[in-house]
Amino acid sequence: MTMSADLYQQVILEHNKKPRNYLKLDGATHTAEGFNPLCGDHLWVYAKVNADGVIDEMTFEGLGCAISKASASMMTVALKGKTIDEARVIFKEFHSLLLGDLKPDITPNQLGKLKIFSGIWQYPARVKCAALGWHAMNGALNQLQTVTTE
Ligand code: ZN
Repeated sequence: MTMSADLYQQVILEHNKKPRNYLKLDGATHTAEGFNPLCGDHLWVYAKVNADGVIDEMTFEGLGCAISKASASMMTVALKGKTIDEARVIFKEFHSLLLGDLKPDITPNQLGKLKIFSGIWQYPARVKCAALGWHAMNGALNQLQTVTTE
């Protein structure tokens, strides 16, 4: 097992055990439900966006596999304090990373810790798990109610 695969395992397990910002957010300005029928992951993402377009708070809840929960958990940490526009840029970068199009060591990016997902493109079924919370977040920012990975 390579170093990065090992780190990936550790981080996924840790976030799955102790997901960050795992609660329903009262007074959310944006919310969406995400469903991944392939795996059965079912998450809700909540955001509180202030008048300047900054994400003051982001939370999630629901049931899903370790990868979907860990990815959503890391997303809430990464996007808190970002503007909606910045969140959309990071979503795009993360999506390219999941598909294997963005090579984080070559292409400049703002992914930070999210880079641990860089090997996941080799497992297409897992890509949908990792992307679910993000699609729900993007849907929430676009005022959509429900998002599925299909
Ligand atoms: Zn899953």
